[in-house]
Amino acid sequence: MYKQYSFLNSLICSRCGKKYDPSVVQTVCSCGGPLLTEYDLASINENVSPQDFAKRSPNLWRYHELLPVVDEKNVVTLGEGMTPMLRAKTLENKLDLNNLYIKDEGILPTGTFKARGAAVGLSKAKELGIRKISMPTNGNAGAAWATYAARAGITSVIVMPKDAPKITRCECYAAGSRLYLVDGLISDAGAIVKKASEKYGLFDVSTLKEPYRLEGKKTMGLEILEQLDWKAPDVIIYPTGGGVGIIGIYKAMKELKEMGWIDEISTRLVSVQAEGCAPIVKAWEQKKSESEFWKNSETIAFGINVPKALGDFLVLDAIYKTNGSAVAISDREIIESQLETARKEGLFMCPEGAATIAAARKLRNQGWIDKNETVVALNTGSGLKYPEVLDFNAPLLRPEEELSL
Ligand SMILES: *Cc1c(COP(=O)(O)O)cnc(C)c1O
Ligand SMILES: [Zn+2]
Repeated sequence: MYKQYSFLNSLICSRCGKKYDPSVVQTVCSCGGPLLTEYDLASINENVSPQDFAKRSPNLWRYHELLPVVDEKNVVTLGEGMTPMLRAKTLENKLDLNNLYIKDEGILPTGTFKARGAAVGLSKAKELGIRKISMPTNGNAGAAWATYAARAGITSVIVMPKDAPKITRCECYAAGSRLYLVDGLISDAGAIVKKASEKYGLFDVSTLKEPYRLEGKKTMGLEILEQLDWKAPDVIIYPTGGGVGIIGIYKAMKELKEMGWIDEISTRLVSVQAEGCAPIVKAWEQKKSESEFWKNSETIAFGINVPKALGDFLVLDAIYKTNGSAVAISDREIIESQLETARKEGLFMCPEGAATIAAARKLRNQGWIDKNETVVALNTGSGLKYPEVLDFNAPLLRPEEELSL
C-alpha cells in the first residue's frame, strides 16, 4: 500500500494568520510575518505511532510525516540527526543537579545543528525547483547551506561578516559557493543579500524568510522527546541567535501535544544569549513582546551574535507561554564553562553550547531550576569549529630536552 511520505497541509502567517499554498515557492507573508508549516496532524496520528519511529534509521528523516518534503526522492541528506543525549554526571555534581543531559549537535555534518535546517530547507528548495540560493550568515549556517547545496546541485551565494570564524569560510569555498565577506554585521550582510537576490533572481534563504529551515530545527524537539521516552524534560536551555531552534522546539511540542503524544507542554524553555548581544533577554526582562536592535553587539559566541531577529516575537512567545526564562552570560563565563565541560565530561563544546551550561548553573543557583528536575542543555556545535577562541601556550621543548612533570 502506498504510504504518504509527508502530511504537509499549508503555510500560515505567524502574525496575521493568512494561509499560503506550500506547493509553490513562498517567502514571508504580505504583512512581513514569517510563515509556519502546518500538517494534517490527525492523519499522521492515524498513520504512525511512536513505536514506528523507533524502528526507523537514526536520522531526522525518521519524522518524515512531520516534515515538508512531499516526495522522498527529493531528500538531500548527509545522515544528519539523532544526535546523542549525553548524561553529564560530573557536571551534575558540580551544578547540584540530578538529571542533566547535553544533546550533542557537534557531531552533525559541518559540525553544528545548522545541518538540520540546511538538510530540510534545501530538500524542499530542490522539490520546488529552486536553482540558486543566497544567504547572510555568521558562518555556521553558510557553511551548512553551502555544503548541502553542493549535495543538492544547487548554486549558493553566501555573505558573512569578515570576522566570522575562518573555518566556515573554508567550508563555503570547499563546497564551491560564491562567498563574499562584509566589513560589518550579519544585519549588513542581510541587506546586501536582499538587494542581490532581487537583482539576480536568487532565492533568499535568510532566517525565517524561508519557511522550511525551521522544520529541520524542529526535529531537535522531536528527538529530545523520543530519546526521553516521550516524557518531556522540565527545562530545555538553548543558545539563541535568530531563535529558529527554540521556535522549532516549541513547535515540535505543540504538534506532539495536538497529536496526543504528550499530555501537556510542561517544559520551560530558556533562551541564553551573550552579555554583549542580548536583545531577547532585555525584552524578556522588560516583559516586551518584541526586541530592540542591539547596538555594537560583540561576543566570541558568533552564532548568537544577532542584534535583531526577525522571529524575536516568536521566541519571546515560546518563553512566556512555557513559563521559561532568558539569561545573559559573559564571554568569560562561556570560556570557563567550555573548559569545564571538556575537562569534566570530555565534551568540547562550541562557545554557544557552553553558554547553556553557564546558564544552567546560574538558574540552579537562583533556585529557578529544582535539583530533581530534568534539564536538557543544547550543545549546538563542536568546539572544533572555533580554534581561535581558546588562547593558550604550551611549553616548547628542544628535541634533546626531557620533560619535567
Ligand atoms: C546559529 C547558531 C546558534 C543560534 O541558532 P538560532 O537558531 O539562530 O537561534 C547557536 N549555536 C550555534 C553554534 C550556531 O551556529
Ligand atoms: Zn501575515
